[in-house]
Parts: sequence; structure tokens; C-alpha cells
Amino acid sequence: METTDVIVIGAGFAGLVAARELGRSGHAVIVLEARDRVGGRTWTDHVLGHDLELGGTWVHWIQPHVWAEIARYGRRIVRSPVAEEAYWLGAGDAPRKGTLDDFLSLIDDGQRRIVEDALTAIPRAIDPTVGSITELDGQSLQQRIDDLNLDDEARSANESVWVGHVNAPLKSVGLSSALRWASATGGHWPLMHEASATYRVAGGMSAFSAAIAADVSGDIRLNSTVTAIDHHKNGATVTLSDGGEIRARRVVMTLPVNAVDTIAVTPALPGVWRQANRERVASQGIKVWIKVRGRLPRFFAYASQHHPISVLKSEFIEEDHSILVGFGPDHAAIDVTSIEQVQAALSVWRDDLEVLGVAAHDWMKDPLSQNTWMTHRPGQLTRDLPQLQLADGVLHFAGCDTADLWGGFIDGAIESGLREARLVSAALAG
Ligand SMILES: Cc1cc2nc3c(=O)[nH]c(=O)nc-3n(C[C@H](O)[C@H](O)[C@H](O)COP(=O)(O)OP(=O)(O)OC[C@H]3O[C@@H](n4cnc5c(N)ncnc54)[C@H](O)[C@@H]3O)c2cc1C
Repeated sequence: METTDVIVIGAGFAGLVAARELGRSGHAVIVLEARDRVGGRTWTDHVLGHDLELGGTWVHWIQPHVWAEIARYGRRIVRSPVAEEAYWLGAGDAPRKGTLDDFLSLIDDGQRRIVEDALTAIPRAIDPTVGSITELDGQSLQQRIDDLNLDDEARSANESVWVGHVNAPLKSVGLSSALRWASATGGHWPLMHEASATYRVAGGMSAFSAAIAADVSGDIRLNSTVTAIDHHKNGATVTLSDGGEIRARRVVMTLPVNAVDTIAVTPALPGVWRQANRERVASQGIKVWIKVRGRLPRFFAYASQHHPISVLKSEFIEEDHSILVGFGPDHAAIDVTSIEQVQAALSVWRDDLEVLGVAAHDWMKDPLSQNTWMTHRPGQLTRDLPQLQLADGVLHFAGCDTADLWGGFIDGAIESGLREARLVSAALAG
């Protein structure tokens, strides 16, 4: 049987960074990736005549792990267009139109109050389970917004802004997600907003992940789906869907919480993984690219969390068409491959948008991810995170779901890969 020091399962950002670091420490590494490409939940595809990010996109220099990789691989960043027009919904869903400043003044009070205790809840964003978060973690983001008693217009606008951030109905999302991100940005909501939706990597995320992959000294095997892991105190045997087996001294799994049950692990995964997998994390929404006729002034639009597309903004403006990106809370509420359904969703704001094409990947239905960007349900952060970071014998866990700082983000995936590479190296040396 083939043997190696370490098997890394998954070639997303967590797996690639873990493999690179382990290789640099002199360990023999094999990366097993089920897809026919690296990058995982980041994927630049040529669709609608453009290179579009179907998955993770926005990065920021306030995210230290991803920024270090951007510097290392000489990437540049590009700003998404600044909006000239803003659309939102008033009482009774009446369409409203104004400027960026009009919209910001509508949401400012709510946005500030939603996260005003971020720095006492989580005083140090790198320790996200320390602080008054231990008492607050049972609360949903919806409860926090309900407590603010906002008028209908401000409430809809604030809720849809948060759907854009957390990608789920707000009653199922823990307040913790909002507080973590606000803590990571010094309690300053506009900076948090900028960090999560403004700057993308020039040349695309696929080229970025390929650059890391090229730096991995071990073997990256695509189209290699792991079906089983048998582990004991001296090592593990990993079985592939074609029946092949590889033995390793250590294994790093980088699967999202929602997808870990696709691998039969013996002895079974720790209880914390099984429970979180059964419950699922909160995020369950959509990201859809939309091509509309005409050169439109740059705009953004916010509806409410009860609309299938809650957030819409222009990203690319051409002579005869514009490319918009939309986000909604529930992938079951809209078929993102249907031009008709997307057209209907846009009509809440304006009737002059003619949809010519749509492009999306349903990450929730994809068995290899079953999630978008992770946000916790109420209570999951403080209950689960510290334990999700613990190795189970020779079995280690990385992935954005296990990160301290920007959990759920590309930055968090990289943080987790660095962490587990260090722990595996130390274990192999000992
Ligand atoms: C629509 C969308 C928008 C997003 N927007 C942003 C954003 O703007 N900014 C941001 O920072 N983050 C964003 N994210 C989140 C970001 O993409 C993720 O946090 C990050 O890519 C996760 O990396 P990872 O390595 O932890 O997991 P993944 O990328 O999911 O990697 C896990 C890998 O394991 C592989 N795998 C699974 N099962 C098996 C198996 N049985 N055998 C072998 N391989 C297997 C998968 O194919 C995958 O490649 C977004 C995500 C989505 C889906």
C-alpha cells in the first residue's frame, strides 16, 4: 500500500496552505481533492462573457492571513464600483430611490446599535469565545434587530444588509457572527462592511489558489474522492472512491462541517463534529450573477430578508450590458438558473431591468460543500469552536469553519491551514 507522512483532504485554501507548509517542513504530503480543480469554494468561471467569481471573492487588508498570501504571491486588488444610485423598499414594500448617502443615513443608527457591544462581547477577535459572548451567544441576529424597534423602512434595510453578510434568514443566525466581524474591525460597522464586500483579487481567485497549489511540494491529486478514513494511534488508512488506499502518519480533513458525514470515519468523528453536522450551520443562501440589457448607472439595491434576492449590486458595466451580483437568504426560495425567477425577483425595485442571462453555483446542493460561507446558529460558536480545533488522535481538522479570527472567510481557511500544519509538524517531530 502507498504510504506518506500526511494526507490532506481537500484543495481549498485551507488544504493548499496546510500542504504547502507541511512540505516546506520536509514532510511528504499527498493532497486528495474530489473536484477536477483546486480552490474549493472559490472558483472563477468564464460565464456571461466575463470571468466571474462563483464563490468567495472579497478580501481586505484587515484580514491578516489572506493579506499575507496576497503579498506573498504578488496579487493586486480591484475595488468593486462605487454606487451612483441606491434602491431600497419603504413601508409596504414601496420602491425607494436615492443616493448612497441617503441609504447610509437610513441604516446608520441600526447598524451601529446592532454591534455596539462588539468590543465587550469579544474584546479580542482572535479569541472569539472569550468575553460577554458567552452570555450573548444564545441570541439570534433577529432578536437583536427586533429589540431595536426600528421603523419598517429602516428595519427592512438593516435586515437586508445583514442577509448580505450572513447569507441566511436572520432568525437562524447567531448574533455571534455580527459581533465577531464587528470585533475584527474594531467595532466599526462601515469597515466591517468594506472588509466583506468591496475589494476582489485581480486575475481571479482561481489564479490565486493555483499559485498556492504550484508552491505545494507534494502531490495534489484531483478527481480523488475520499470515502473512508480508518485511524488509530500510529496512523490512518484513507480509502478513495475507486477503492484505492493510502496510509499516512497524520491526516488533515478540511471539509466544511455540513459535509463531513460524506466520509465514513472509524472510530467515528468526535461528538462535536457529529452534532454540528446534524444541526447544520446557519448559512444557506445564494449568490447569483445576472446579465441585464444596457449600460446602467452603477447602483446597489436592498430589499428585505423576505425577498429571494435581498441584495443586488452592479459589478461590471459594458456598452450594451451590465453585470449584477445578487445575494439571498435561502437557496430553496429561488432557482438561480431560471431567468424568469431572477427577473421576477428584480422587479421589487425596478421594472427597467431586462435579464439576459444568469450564472450561479448552488453550493448548498453541492455535496462537497453543502454550505456557502459559514455563519453559526445561535449557541454554536461558544459551544463548538474550541473543540472543532482539537485533533482526534492522528486526525486533524482545518477549514474556515474552525478559524478563530475570520471564521467562514478565505482568511479563516488560511489561518486554519497554518494552524494545523504547525500542529502536525510538531506531532511528527515528537
Ligand atoms: C458564494 C460564496 C461566496 C463567498 N464569498 C466570500 C467572500 O467574498 N470573501 C471571503 O473571504 N469568503 C467568501 N466565501 C467563503 C470562502 O469561499 C470560504 O471560506 C473558503 O473558500 C473555504 O475554504 P476551505 O478550504 O475551508 O473549504 P473549501 O474551499 O470548501 O475546501 C474543501 C475542499 O474539500 C474538498 N472535498 C470535500 N469532500 C471531499 C472528499 N470526500 N474527498 C476529497 N475532497 C473533498 C472540496 O471539493 C473542497 O475543494 C464565499 C463562499 C461562497 C460559497
